[in-house]
Order: sequence, then C-alpha cells, then structure tokens
Amino acid sequence: MLLPYPFAGAFDYACPASPALEPGDVVLVPLNRRAEVGVVWDAPDGLPADLLPPGAAPVPDGKLKPVSALLDVPRMPASLRRFVDWVAGYTLTPPGLVLAMALRINAAQPLPVTTGWVRSGSNSVSVRSTPARNRVLQALADGMPRGTAELARLAGVGSGVVRGMAEAGLLREQEVAAAPSFGRPDPDHVGPGLSADQERVAAALRGLVQARRFQAALLDGVTGSGKTETYLEAVAACLAEGRQALVLLPEIALSSQWLQRFQRRFGVEPAVWHSDLGSKRRRITWRAVAGGEAPVVVGARSALFLPFPDLGLVVVDEEHETAFKQEDGVSYHARDMAVVRARLAEAPVLLVSATPSLETLTNVETGRYRHLSLSVRHGGARLPEVAAVDLRDHPPERGRFLSPPLIEAVAGTLHRAEQAMLFLNRRGYAPLTLCRACGHRIQCPNCTAWLVEHRARRQLACHHCGHTEAVPVHCPSCRAENSLTPIGPGVERITEEARTTFPDARILVMASDTLPGPTAAAEAVRRIAEREVDLVIGTQIVAKGWHFPGLTLVGVVDADLGLAGGDLRAAERTVQLLHQVAGRAGRAEQPGRVLLQTYSPEHPVMQALVAGDFARFMEREAEQRRPGHWPPFGRLAALIVSADTAEAADQAAAALGRSAPTGEGLQVLGPAPAPLAILRGRHRRRLLLRTRREVAVQPILRHWMTAWRALAPTVPRSVQVDVDVDPVSFL
Ligand code: ADP
Ligand code: ZN
Repeated sequence: MLLPYPFAGAFDYACPASPALEPGDVVLVPLNRRAEVGVVWDAPDGLPADLLPPGAAPVPDGKLKPVSALLDVPRMPASLRRFVDWVAGYTLTPPGLVLAMALRINAAQPLPVTTGWVRSGSNSVSVRSTPARNRVLQALADGMPRGTAELARLAGVGSGVVRGMAEAGLLREQEVAAAPSFGRPDPDHVGPGLSADQERVAAALRGLVQARRFQAALLDGVTGSGKTETYLEAVAACLAEGRQALVLLPEIALSSQWLQRFQRRFGVEPAVWHSDLGSKRRRITWRAVAGGEAPVVVGARSALFLPFPDLGLVVVDEEHETAFKQEDGVSYHARDMAVVRARLAEAPVLLVSATPSLETLTNVETGRYRHLSLSVRHGGARLPEVAAVDLRDHPPERGRFLSPPLIEAVAGTLHRAEQAMLFLNRRGYAPLTLCRACGHRIQCPNCTAWLVEHRARRQLACHHCGHTEAVPVHCPSCRAENSLTPIGPGVERITEEARTTFPDARILVMASDTLPGPTAAAEAVRRIAEREVDLVIGTQIVAKGWHFPGLTLVGVVDADLGLAGGDLRAAERTVQLLHQVAGRAGRAEQPGRVLLQTYSPEHPVMQALVAGDFARFMEREAEQRRPGHWPPFGRLAALIVSADTAEAADQAAAALGRSAPTGEGLQVLGPAPAPLAILRGRHRRRLLLRTRREVAVQPILRHWMTAWRALAPTVPRSVQVDVDVDPVSFL
C-alpha cells in the first residue's frame, strides 16, 4: 500500500477477503490512529533496500493492520502507477510524495452538487443588448450551465456583467449534475481550412496518433505559422481513435486565447487542470479524467499525474519554456516527464516550439525524435524585421531608459494608429535603491538580494522570499534624509516614462502583479485584441503565444538583461524569450518591426535575433557545450545544502564534498556558495555532479546520499540537502 507521504517505500496491510483488492484500488488504511488514503501498489517502489529506514523489516502477517475501506474512486491505472515509480526513481524522491501529486483530491469526499447559469430564454425581458452581453449569451449557446467566473472568462467580460444579466432576468440558475460537466469535443466540427504546408504536417501527426505507439516528435515552425491549429488536428485524430489527449501549456492562467481556439475547432471547451483549481472543480475533473468523460485535458505540468485510463496523445506546447521545470517539492521537468508518460501509455508525444530547446534539437539530430516543420507564417504574414539599437551610440536622456530611435519608432507606430509593445522582464519600479550619501544598497533581511521598489504600492519587496517593507525616508545606514534613489528600471518606471513621452497613448501594463489571475489577464488580452489599447508595457507575460493582429512594433528595453550571470543556458534562454516576444509583432497584414536596445549588438544572441538565424545560433551553443559534456551532451545534478547558519552550511557542504563520488566520466564541482547565498534566512551552498551522457546519475547520487547520511549524526540538525536532477536554475 503506497501512502501519499515521504516514507521510503510502501507499507503492508491485511487485505479483506472480499471485496478482493486489486492494484490501483484507492483505500482507507489506519496510520498512527488516523485513517489515511492509500493506493494498492504492485511494484518495487524504486528505492533500494539500503535506503529503507531502520526497523522497516517485513511485519509478520498476523500483526498486519487491516485495510479500513475501499473507496468509491476509479482505480489508478497501471500506466500512472508505473509513472509514479519512474518519476520517484529518476528524481530521487520518496514515491509517496509523487503519489501525493497524483492524488490531488480528497478522494473520499462525495462529488458536490452545484449550480451554474444558463440562458433564461425569456423574451419578455427588455434590456439593452451590448456586445459584452451578447458574448455571454454566445458562451452559453451550447446549453451547458456555467459558473460566474468561468462564464466571465469565456466571454471575456467582468463578472459584474454576468451578475447584472442574472438580475435582469437574462440568465437563470440551473443545477449542474455532479458528474462530468465536460462537453464532448467534436473532431468533425468544422475547423479552419489548413494550408498545404499545414495539411502535410497534420497528416503526419494523424499518422503518429493512429499508430498507437510511443514516438516522440518535434513540431517547430516560425511564430504565427499555425502550429497550434495544426496540432489540434492530432488532437482530433486522437478523439477519433476514442482515446484521451493531454495538452500541457507553460502558463495555463494565460491561455484564454488558446481555449477560445480550442472551442472554435471542437465546439466545446476542454477540461482545464492547474494547481489553482477550486477543490470542487478539481474533484470533478479528476473523476471525469479517470472515467474517460474528459476526452481532452489542457493543463499545467501537474496534469501529467491525472489518471487517464487511455491516453492517446501528449502535446507539450512551448516545450522550451522553463516554467515546465518544477523546483519546489518534487523537482521534475514536465517536458521530459511527458515523454516518459507517453512511453508508458504507448502513445505519441509532440513537443512544440518556434525555438526548441537544445535538448530536443539534439534528440532530433540523433534520430530519437521525429521532426516536423512549418516554414512560413500563416496567411502570408511576414516575419518582423529585427534591428539592434546600440545604446552607446543612442543613449537615452539622463534618468530615462528609452533611446531616441525607439521613441521615434513608437511615436510613428501610434501615429499610424497601430499598436506598440515595450518589453522589460522586470517587475516593479526599480531593482535597486541606493543611498546617494553613503552608497548603502537596501538588501532583503532574509536573502542575498536587493529589494525591488514597487512605487504604486509604496513598498520595497524581495522577489525571492516575499518580504516587504515601506520605502524608508532616511537611509537605514547613514540616516541621511531624502538621499535614497532608485537605480535602473522595472516596468512601472518604463510606464511612467512612456506616459510623459506619449501622453495621448492608451497604455496597458501586463505583469504578474498587475494582472492577478486568469480573468484579469483574459480581459487585458481582449482589450488589446479589440484595439482599446495603443501601447502595451509588460514583463514576460507578453511573450506568451498571444495573437494581436494590430501590433506592429515591439521594443525590447533591455535585451542584455538575461545574459548576466554564469547560467549554462542564459544565452539560449535569452534568444528563446526575445524571439518569442518579437514574434508578437506583425502577425496580420501590416509588417512588424522589432527594436532591441543593447550595449552589445555584437553578442551572438543579438546577431542571431537580427539575422533571424536560430538554427545557426543553436549549432554554436552545441559546439560550446559538447566538449565539456555539459547538457544535453552530459548529465548534471545539483545538490543544494542549506542550514540556519553559515558555519553549519559550510561544514555540511564540506562533508558532502569529502564523501563525493569519484570515477571515470564523472566530476564533482564545488562546494561553493550558491549565487543566492542566503534565501529565506537559510544559508546555501551548492555542489554539482556532472557526468558523461552514458553514465546514470541516480545510482551515484543514491550512494552519495547514503554515505552522507552515515555522517548525519555529526551534522547539525538544521542542515538539509536537496537534490535536483537536470537542474534548470543555478541560483
Ligand atoms: P503558432 O502557434 O505557430 O504561433 P498559430 O497556430 O497561433 O501559430 O497561428 C497564428 C494565427 O494564424 C492564429 O490566429 C491562427 O488562428 C491563424 N491561423 C493559423 N492557421 C490557420 C488556418 N489554416 N486558417 C485560419 N487561420 C489560421
Ligand atoms: Zn528575501
């Protein structure tokens, strides 16, 4: 019996004679005088015996506690059980913690009855019809009852509109059957006609789905080439096969346009899965997936752990996105685990991106993945023209951040009544506050990080631990008054500058702290698409796959921003992000233009963006990583040691260093202070294990951890060691 807790393995319980339990059954069992949910497990739990806790010897049959109850919950499919084992083994996580992700419901509770809005059908109501109200009525055209929040999001209106319509008698409340509230996507619903290029790729994708075998494939193609429309044909083929499809999106809260397109193609919305779902919705969705009533799920990385009985296709959209890497709790990369999930389900997996990761490109090169490509933008739209603005030749005015060429370009765009976007991947007003009198820099009390000024909230905030404080009047160090000055820009400061430079422009700011939640984001996107906005200023939110036909100019305020620091993938990531941002420009008839403000236009990243030569850039990246066996040409695992005091952290890190593995084809780097040497008050040190590709890191890490635990009695209690296999962040 596997329980959703960090035990080293499964426990034995006495099974009732009837009903006979089978692997995957969800049951209640006694544990420490409480009833806990567990799953009947049927395989070795992936942890070797040397890691079992002392005293975990088998219990004699007579002493086993009995299972309390079999729950009325669908059995967990074998492919998911094997996936849980696999993820646990690969990430060196106790299998129960991975199971906890797969049991993301309180399974023991009955499904709730709930209500939603439908059209009242009453003609006697005389209320003004507005575009917003019409959209609400349209969203209810299929007769399916929908809750206020969902309806508002679907229709792209505020929830006040829905409530107003209810008061006016246009909507009436109806009970929703507790069971699935998911419509059946219709694969034969008329979608957009595909171009010849798209149809060629779609046919290949259908073939992959119909083969009902594991196969990984990369679908790449320039931004706006119709990758989404094309892979929806693979989803259609999967539905026609009677199997379920899973689509992973990096940021599901920002996917209103994607959901609308799905609806256009299939006539209904798919089931949505992410960690912010209400508990009711979560339970309904989980059961609908298990029962096969939710044929298509679109979700965040945690959707990989849903109990699909018959998964026939997995799609990972924007596969290069780092948002797919989970770093707290179980550290896993959802893109890589999606491939494993598909293999265990004997289904194809499709990785989609305009700028694929070097990992995926390498798998294509070695023939492990198939490669499908769309080469032109749909509907004859041209790719934007990208140019660098050398800030050494065109400096902004003192205390400002927009250079004359960029200002001129924005002004021209606004003058032509087209839309412009300014991109800066930094929230807040200024990333650093400095005392002009004594040079003091205001730091977070808990982290090795500067506090970021958020002027609208009159606060300084730490973006690592969430600490906030009021902006002080006196310098905390020399007590000088009015000497504190903001250094560098965040989007708030760029917005301030834009308001004075373009006083007539209607400006919209898009950042995770100004758009809390999917409804606000969907509303912002609607306003841009409907041309209620002239100038969009935003952080990486604006880089998502949005389609804004009126947007013709993108200005990148600081193209060098992501290149600082010694991160292995800094250059790759910057190219991907900036290419994605650039791809927002010129998606319809009007051609687009992109300006990159930079101090190093000669940098290969800028050259690649200007030349639009992503392939050449990635070849160069590969050449740089190959000789040193850096990923994907070798393997990496990070060990992060943290402790209450610097001494304890140093001591523990040194002990880990002494017990480090040695051998052919492997190397341990460190210990060294982590770049974030203090985080949330904990002192951090890092070690890195690098091996050749053919060396499996997990057995090495297990031995290392065992050797380290043998030293544990001499190690201070506050010390914690976190293992991150295939690390993405090097903080
Ligand atoms: P990508 O995912 O490659 O960036 P999208 O799938 O978002 O491209 O397509 C870009 C735009 O072109 C979208 O608005 C999409 O609806 C439209 N589009 C793509 N292919 C077609 C098609 N065959 N018919 C009509 N519209 C299409
Ligand atoms: Zn902090």
